[in-house]
Amino acid sequence: MVQYRATLCRNIMLDSLSVFTKSCQRMSPVIKFTFAALIRVGVTASVLGGLVALTIDVTWGVALGALVILAVIGYYAYKLASLSVWLDDPQAATLPDGIGLWADTLGHLYRVIRHERAAQRTLADTLSRFQAAAAALPDGAVMLDNQYNIVWCNPSAETHLAVSLKRDRMQVITYLIRNPEFIHYLDSRNFLEPLVIRLQHNKSAANAASAAATEVILSLQLVAFGDDQMLLLSRDISERERLETIRRDFVANVSHELRTPLTVVTGFLETVAIAGTSNETLLQKSLAHMSVQTARMQHLVEDLLTLSRLEDNRNRLAVSPVNIPELISSLLNDAEQLSNGRHTITKHIDAPWLLANRDEIASAFGNLITNAVRYTPAGGTIHAEWSQASNHAPLVFRVTDNGDGIGAEHLPRLTERFYRVDRGRSRASGGTGLGLAIVKHVLIRHDGHLEIQSSLDTAQHGTTFSAFFPPERAYAVEDRICAVAA
Ligand code: ADP
Repeated sequence: MVQYRATLCRNIMLDSLSVFTKSCQRMSPVIKFTFAALIRVGVTASVLGGLVALTIDVTWGVALGALVILAVIGYYAYKLASLSVWLDDPQAATLPDGIGLWADTLGHLYRVIRHERAAQRTLADTLSRFQAAAAALPDGAVMLDNQYNIVWCNPSAETHLAVSLKRDRMQVITYLIRNPEFIHYLDSRNFLEPLVIRLQHNKSAANAASAAATEVILSLQLVAFGDDQMLLLSRDISERERLETIRRDFVANVSHELRTPLTVVTGFLETVAIAGTSNETLLQKSLAHMSVQTARMQHLVEDLLTLSRLEDNRNRLAVSPVNIPELISSLLNDAEQLSNGRHTITKHIDAPWLLANRDEIASAFGNLITNAVRYTPAGGTIHAEWSQASNHAPLVFRVTDNGDGIGAEHLPRLTERFYRVDRGRSRASGGTGLGLAIVKHVLIRHDGHLEIQSSLDTAQHGTTFSAFFPPERAYAVEDRICAVAA
């Protein structure tokens, strides 16, 4: 009887399984999965319940089958809850594991997540590399949406446009850059050519009272990309514009300097052409004037060439020990000739030789001494000094005069090319306006610098020019080895 029941059960199960397998082949994966789960539960419950029913009692068999089904449902519910908790916050908990169908499901989920995390890592890596590259760009880049809201910008753009990505994200850019030309540029929708604008930036926003505005000149260009997005590219062209202004001013200044003597020479030539060479006095006078003017032009061209040589980085400084005491004495002799007894000229020499380029130093010191003679009224005193306070102190060449002095507002600009305080006086005494620019460049090439002090005070008027050199340039005469510092 028992054997018959067992055979019957087995046949029923096998038949059901074969029917189920055939139907499963036509089912969707979800239905298949559901059926597979039900079959597993059903088979486990039936086998265990069946065994108990066959060996002990049918009631106990049914009870055990029901208990198995309940346990499996409980297990599924528990796993589902664990999965839900994990999905809620994947970082806080670990992905739950499981057995049976759960093992397949969670294994699959784990693979998807691992793949997803790898893709995220690659994306984050690419993004951080992109951000590092964008941060290193000297040009600014601002990503704008179609309403001109700032979506993103790199640090250069923050500096150029005085915006902050943290503070101004999703702000309309025209609220931040309130420049009429820029607003017009955006409205025009013609972005083929870049726009050049000048912006005032406050250097210190912390203290509004002491905030100094600096002007930056920017070249801006808008480039459309993607889905209605725009990239605003900015480039700081302040330095380029500054150099362009210097170049323009320089050409204008040189032309102006040459025009006056050329006009004079042309005038005399015309006079001589009309009057002929028979008038000996006029001819002599004209020739004398022309020679003064040509000397002036020659002087200007020489100073320009000197300056250009000094500014040329390829022109390396060739140094040797220079006997400065002897050089100063020789320059002061020339100054005596120029002064022609109108000034009292004194000197104090108390420093070693200098490792330097003799011609350049002679030109710089000569300019300072000659200026003192030219700008100090008759009866004045001029004092030249070469000193070093201690072995480690800088070497100083100082020229002090008790002339009229120079207004404080002129001092910072004195070494600019063609800058003169008194134009007429400079020209009348044969000045080119390039002397102090030459001095400045010679000192820079010798790692030195120039300091100017002047007073207009009636009781103590006068000017002092001090040229400083680093102590390493000192050359004690008894030294046999000359450590040339080029
Ligand atoms: P310049 O050829 O005109 O003398 P410099 O560059 O040598 O050109 O000097 C620039 C200007 O500085 C001069 O035009 C003059 O106004 C002023 N200056 C230079 N040295 C003195 C000085 N010792 N005393 C007063 N003014 C001076």
